[in-house]
Amino acid sequence: MKKYHLITIGCQMNKSDSERMAAVLESQGLKKTDKRKSADLIVLVTCGVRQSAEDRIYGLVNQIKKDNQKTKIVLTGCLAGRADVKSRLTEKVDFWVPIGLISNFQFPISPSAPLRAGKFQIPKIISKKLNCEYLNIVPKYTSKFSAFVPIGNGCDNFCSYCVVPYARGREVYRPVEEIIKEVKSLIKKGYKEINLIAQNVNSYQSKVESRKSKAIDFADLLKLVNDIPGNFWVRFATSHPNDISDKLIRIIAQCKKICKHIHLPAQAGSDKVLARMNRKYTVKEYIDLVDKIKKVINFQFSIFNFQCPISITTDIIVGFPGETKKDFNETKSLFNKIKFDMAYIARYSPRPGTAAYRLNDNVSKDEKKRRDEELNAILRKTALENNKKYIGQVVKVLIEYKNKKGEWVGRIESNKVVMLKVESEKLKVKNLIGNFIIAKINKVSDFGLEGNMLKKIPN
Ligand code: SAH
Ligand code: SF4
Repeated sequence: MKKYHLITIGCQMNKSDSERMAAVLESQGLKKTDKRKSADLIVLVTCGVRQSAEDRIYGLVNQIKKDNQKTKIVLTGCLAGRADVKSRLTEKVDFWVPIGLISNFQFPISPSAPLRAGKFQIPKIISKKLNCEYLNIVPKYTSKFSAFVPIGNGCDNFCSYCVVPYARGREVYRPVEEIIKEVKSLIKKGYKEINLIAQNVNSYQSKVESRKSKAIDFADLLKLVNDIPGNFWVRFATSHPNDISDKLIRIIAQCKKICKHIHLPAQAGSDKVLARMNRKYTVKEYIDLVDKIKKVINFQFSIFNFQCPISITTDIIVGFPGETKKDFNETKSLFNKIKFDMAYIARYSPRPGTAAYRLNDNVSKDEKKRRDEELNAILRKTALENNKKYIGQVVKVLIEYKNKKGEWVGRIESNKVVMLKVESEKLKVKNLIGNFIIAKINKVSDFGLEGNMLKKIPN
C-alpha cells in the first residue's frame, strides 16, 4: 500500500484544504504516514503570504529529494500557480495541483502504472466554480471535536500587499445548504466546536436559488448555525472591518452558541498607511467600529449574564513601504486605545505580483524587528489588563489536550487559553479531551488563564 505524508504551511484555510486532500488520497487507497522518509508521496500545502513561508517550501523540497530521490512531491496551495516558483522547482516537484483541482488528482498506485512526472498539467485558469466546488469534498477531519468548515474561498479586496486574491482567485461562496449539511453531520458525530472559515467570512452571500428565496448573508448564516440543536459552539474568522454590519453585531450578541470573539485585522494605525494598503477604512472608523461592538455585545452580555466579555484580536503589518516613525507611533496609539487581547504582528514582506511590490521596501529589517517588539510589549500589557477581569469568574472551557504537568488545557469562548488543575478525584481519571468543563479562574498572565475545574458539562 502506498503511503502519503502531508505538510501544511499557513492559515486555517490551508489546514482545512489539507483535510480535503487527505480524503481524496485515502479514497484512492493511500495510507497516511507521519514519517516523511517512509512516504511514497509527499503533499505540500503551501502558503505565499510572506517570503519566509515560501522559503520553507524551497528548503523542504530540497531536503525531501535529498533524503530520497524516489519520493514523489505534490505541490498545492497558494504557490501552485506561481510561474516563478514553478520554474525554480520544476526539476524537483512532480505534480503541480491547483487547490480547486485536488479531486482530479490521481496518484498511480498500481505497480503496473509507473509514476510519470508532470503528468498532471496546470490549466491556465481555474474557474470560480471549481474553486468553490472542491469545498464540498468531505474532509478527513484532523480533530474529533473541533472542525473547520469553509464557507467560501478567495478574496476581492486586493489589499496592496497581499497575494491572496491572485493565489486563491476571486471570492466564491458555498451554498448555505451545503454548509448547514456539513455542520449538522458534525454535530451528529459529537463535534463541540465549529470554525466557519474564509478569507472574509463577513462578505458571505449565498446564491439566490429562486426569485422567492432571499439571499443569505453572514449574519443569517450564523443564526442558522446557532439554531441547530446540540451542545456546541461556533467560531468564525477572518472578519474584514468594512463588512461588519449592525445586523451582524446584533446576531453575535444574541446567539448563545456564537463565541464572543472577533478577529478583526486592522493592519495599521495610520490613515496614510491604510490608504496605501488599500484597506478602505480610516483609523477612526476602525476605532468607532470596535467601540460599537464592545458596547452592543458587552451590553447583551450583562443582560444574559454571559461569562465572557467580547475579545478583539487583530493582524498588523509593521514596516510597510514608507511607514515613518510617526505612522508607527499612530499604530502604537491604536494598540493602547483598543487594548487587543491578541495580535499577529507581521513584518512587511514584498510579494511578487502585488501592487505594493513596486514600492520601495525602505524600512530596514532591524527597524521592522524593533517595531514588532514594541507592539508586542504593548500587547502584553493590554492583554494582561484584560485578563485580570477574569479572576474569580466562572467560565466554560473546551478541553483540547493534557500538558506534561497533567493539567488539562483548553480555550474559553473568547479564545483565551486556560490551564486547569483537577481537584475532584472523579474528574482525574476521565479523558476530558473534547469536553466542555465549567471552571473557576484564579490566576492570569498576558496570554493565559489558570483555574480549577468545577464540573463537566454532560455531552
Ligand atoms: N483576510 C485576512 C488576512 C489574510 S492574510 C484580512 O483581510 O485581514 C493573513 C495576514 O497576513 C494578513 O492579515 C496580514 O497581516 C499578513 N500579510 C499579508 N500579506 C503580507 C505581506 N506581504 N507581508 C507581511 N504580512 C502580510
Ligand atoms: Fe489579503 Fe486583504 Fe483579502 Fe485579507 S482582505 S485576504 S489581506 S487582500
